Amino acid sequence: MMRDNRNVSRSEGASLLVLVALYLWTRLMSLRQARRLHLSVPPPEVPVALDPGRSQAERALFLVVAAIPFDLARDLWRAGRMPGFGEPRPMVSVFPSLTHVAVPALLGDLPHTRPFGYEARYFHPPSGEVRGGLDPDSERGMAPYRGRPEGPLGHAATYTLTRAMAFGQIRWMARQVGQHANPWLGYLPATDGVAHFDGREALGEAVADIFEQLAVLRETCLERDGVVPDVVVCSDHGVCFSELQHLGIDDVARVLALEGYTVGPGDRGVHFAPMGDVGGGAAWCGDEHGAAVANLLASTPGIELAMAAREGGCEVFRVRDGLEHAVVAWRDGRFDYRTVRGDPLDLESLWRGIAPWPDAQAVLETTWDARYPCAPVRLQEAFTDLVQWPATVLFSMAPGWTFGSAATYAASLLRGGQVATHGALSRAQTLGFAASTTGGWEPGPLRPASVFAPWQDRVLAGYAPLPGD
Ligand SMILES: [Zn+2]
Repeated sequence: MMRDNRNVSRSEGASLLVLVALYLWTRLMSLRQARRLHLSVPPPEVPVALDPGRSQAERALFLVVAAIPFDLARDLWRAGRMPGFGEPRPMVSVFPSLTHVAVPALLGDLPHTRPFGYEARYFHPPSGEVRGGLDPDSERGMAPYRGRPEGPLGHAATYTLTRAMAFGQIRWMARQVGQHANPWLGYLPATDGVAHFDGREALGEAVADIFEQLAVLRETCLERDGVVPDVVVCSDHGVCFSELQHLGIDDVARVLALEGYTVGPGDRGVHFAPMGDVGGGAAWCGDEHGAAVANLLASTPGIELAMAAREGGCEVFRVRDGLEHAVVAWRDGRFDYRTVRGDPLDLESLWRGIAPWPDAQAVLETTWDARYPCAPVRLQEAFTDLVQWPATVLFSMAPGWTFGSAATYAASLLRGGQVATHGALSRAQTLGFAASTTGGWEPGPLRPASVFAPWQDRVLAGYAPLPGD
């Protein structure tokens, strides 16, 4: 049964109140926390009590750090601030380039790690139920990752304490890895808050802090045990730093109304997943309306690209000097990009070099650094097996624009306003990085599923219960 859309605003109102309360509480705590974390940092404790029966060589850290763009990681490496690591690789994230699809995708086909979806947390298509907040069911994709703190308070602290939180999280994790002679699969979310609210310079410092702690961990283990743990670090997606304008669901509703569509249930109803206030969006409507709805969305100021699912592919719409239209098709692991009018994905000249019907690897190698990296492959995933209930229409915001719910937008203003976003199909918001102390990859850019693949067995052990858990 489709729920009345008023339920959405009521639940959004409630989550706004909760956010405000959490925000005030965490701000009050922040000075004390910052003092504890920054001003009186004790030397790292790495106790010698190790799990019995385990080889020192098994100790390793596979770490996902949220929201670090490739360019930033490369600049830090060149400045010597990633000691012990090889040169960072570009990692082409999924679309939408958002945490709850991007992080599970890093585990690829490893057992029990099916990405739960951009939709699960926010919208359940079969029932028409709009969800919000921290839905335990949708946390499953993140469950293999070890990190602290968890739950709503940890989530709020990520966006209020930001850099102090990032520092606390890496210290906690380095201590855990030092204590257990197991592989460890970790996720460090607090850098997402630093990126969204503190900007590029602060993010660079936070990442440098993280690599400094990793260097201390490796040195300590070497001195104590004579073995240096392997560390593989990557981010889940990129980030675009800029001044931002907000497009609300109400604004979109006015455009849809021009052709008789409404936001909510019904024959000409369109559901939007309230995924925060981000650079990408997802909508569900009747299949027969997908192209018309995408067409309307593409003509909405702030939306750069709108894609509608169709049999064996998707249609791409964009309005620049008039409407541009192309078709992306996929078949047996191969891809086609055919322009109808204009060149909405700015892909034609590159595509000529690999047409007809290149495979995913050729598309990746040729287009990873393009305006929309590896777009046909990422669109195929997004419309097919990336999530449980793929959207009918996906869209990507123009640079400097976010889309989302009024409540999240209000909460972000209260926090001083966002200075960065991600979620879009574009290069800056897409490209994360991967770097390792042990090599392990063939040359070239990486997709999420190949980041941890060379260490598959150790990564699996990295989220098995620890002895005593
Ligand atoms: Zn984010």
